[in-house]
Amino acid sequence: MKVLVINAGSSSLKYQFIDLETEAVLAKGLCERIGIDGKLTQKANGVEFVCNDPMKDHSDAIKLVIDALTSKEHGVISSMDEIDAVGHRVVHGGEYFASSVIITEEVKDAIRKCMDLAPLHNGPNLIGIEACEKIMPNTPQVGVFDTAFHQSMPEKAYMYALPYDLYEKYKIRRYGFHGTSHKYVSQRAAKMLGKDLKDLKIITCHLGNGSSIAAVDGGKSVDTSMGFTPLPGVCMGTRCGDIDPAIVTFLMEKEGLDIAGINALMNKESGVYGVSGVSSDFRDLEAASAEGNERAQIAWDKFIYDVKKYVGSYVAVMGGVDAIVFTAGIGENTIGIRQGVAEGLEFCGVKIDAEKNKNMPRGEETVISTDDSKAKILVIPTNEELMIALDTQELVK
Ligand code: AMP
Repeated sequence: MKVLVINAGSSSLKYQFIDLETEAVLAKGLCERIGIDGKLTQKANGVEFVCNDPMKDHSDAIKLVIDALTSKEHGVISSMDEIDAVGHRVVHGGEYFASSVIITEEVKDAIRKCMDLAPLHNGPNLIGIEACEKIMPNTPQVGVFDTAFHQSMPEKAYMYALPYDLYEKYKIRRYGFHGTSHKYVSQRAAKMLGKDLKDLKIITCHLGNGSSIAAVDGGKSVDTSMGFTPLPGVCMGTRCGDIDPAIVTFLMEKEGLDIAGINALMNKESGVYGVSGVSSDFRDLEAASAEGNERAQIAWDKFIYDVKKYVGSYVAVMGGVDAIVFTAGIGENTIGIRQGVAEGLEFCGVKIDAEKNKNMPRGEETVISTDDSKAKILVIPTNEELMIALDTQELVK
């Protein structure tokens, strides 16, 4: 089966066209500046193709994606009929979706109802779905939600200690994000270990510009560090992560900030960027620390400390751990962060092999714990698009 995976943003649309027989990406591309002018960039068979035709909306973008995929010179298929199904990334599924679903009118209504919970994402995601329905009315469409994997959390993990009627009224609770990535890497971890996922306690650390940690017990997410929004948990590139909630009203009063102001401060001006004053990028942070920049060092150390604290608490929550997985930009590439997080966890059977960690081949699934480590430490490149395509295939079959 060949699946087109779509990740629609407000003015952009990323896509991958995947052949699930081989799991090969036949083509991948990006539409940018939708509604402004429009630029499509596609890579297929090692060749880059750029098209500057105007895109007044997402339907125009989808049409150009199909033109690019079916183009005689740059394409990979001869007609649109070779697209067996479309898998859409949808950020927020609220409490409606605990797994991926075939898109129907009821599903679209539920996505609309979650708009308040993720206004920047769900709107564009839905526009992408409707554009595909318009251009490909006979092709099945599937929705894959960032929140769905975490719907298995028990109440004690997802409830906030706020008045219960606010949960009923606004559905204020922990949802968690990066679910597709946590699900994918936990499944891959079981494969790498040659064990049944049902028998494993895994802590998955998705460490990128946005970071979240999940406790995956028997293949089910039982807790995760992000919450009602993707703001809490470990400190991130520019997001503050966990802070005392009373700081919000304190700062609003002292700094004269309105709602937009405090939101911008916590989402865009905080995290390792805010602490270091250097950058949100861990490569810059590492370089600045090496040159003796103290604040960069504090930010670096704090990130490691935050991740380690979550890992430790999830060992406690699950009553043990069989594997810790590192994934995403930092998890896959930043040696010192993996080393810092894993060091000192020997008491729970986790022993990192510093040489393996340092010399691991980039972009490959690798074990970086010592041979005698009771729990394994794995680096697994995440592949949310493949997970979306696999879920889509499962439902369409
Ligand atoms: P992501 O959001 O998953 O793309 O991750 C972005 C973060 O990964 C940034 O803080 C980067 O500094 C960090 N990173 C470290 N090394 C690399 C690398 N070789 N390639 C990409 N990202 C990297």
